[in-house]
Amino acid sequence: MSIVDVIDRAKAEGRTVLTEIESKQVLEEAGIPTTTARLAKTAEEAVNAAKEFGYPAVLKVVSPDVTHKSDVGGVRLGLDSPEAVAAAFGEIAQAVKSALGGDARIDGVAVQKMARPGIEVIIGMSKDPQFGPVLMFGLGGILVEVLKDIAFRIVPLEPRDARQMVREIKGFPVLQGFRGQEPADLETLEKLLLKVSAFVEAHPEIEELDLNPVFAYKDGAIAVDARIVVG
Ligand code: ADP
Ligand code: MG
Repeated sequence: MSIVDVIDRAKAEGRTVLTEIESKQVLEEAGIPTTTARLAKTAEEAVNAAKEFGYPAVLKVVSPDVTHKSDVGGVRLGLDSPEAVAAAFGEIAQAVKSALGGDARIDGVAVQKMARPGIEVIIGMSKDPQFGPVLMFGLGGILVEVLKDIAFRIVPLEPRDARQMVREIKGFPVLQGFRGQEPADLETLEKLLLKVSAFVEAHPEIEELDLNPVFAYKDGAIAVDARIVVG
């Protein structure tokens, strides 16, 4: 399904927030690598999807009532067998219901492959009333949330902007490989920023975008969580 179709369907259903599954679909079409996710409405469907994607699997709640999935027990990582997947399906439903109350809407779970660990970075887009779409880049976790160690540039980005964004955050040494850790492929990150810039420029109906996190490797990068809001 094309980007426009996914967005039109969401709008027709009165939704402005695309699910993680939909968001990843449109990102992939734009050439942005993600851990492709598929909806499973039953434990059996989840087991079948995990078998197809390969183990270890990750299950995440799909619900219009949930923004931060892990905060409500809605993310289960490292599931390495059909039994583990089936059990996690039930446990996620339970956890989310007890966090949100029994009438929380749960559409199912998003099944995907567990990506190998990398350096967690964040790429985001929000719209500034004055400047229009603005791209942000930072390191995942507390560096962004607590220390606000973030680089911003107005869309469209030039290659020079992407180069500077990656290098100007205080956490840049982490990307270069800290204390024997694998460094990130900076060129891949720059290209990813440019792709996201081109993507949001081509689709002005996108109001907000969050790739949080992207795992950065020494040979590539992949978005493991994605959220797109349309106008
Ligand atoms: P949320 O941000 O809604 O709480 P995420 O989808 O970001 O949920 O998942 C929480 C964390 O789980 C991520 O920050 C990441 O560290 C890890 N994670 C999520 N999906 C995957 C995946 N497919 N492979 C590996 N790790 C993942
Ligand atoms: Mg996330």
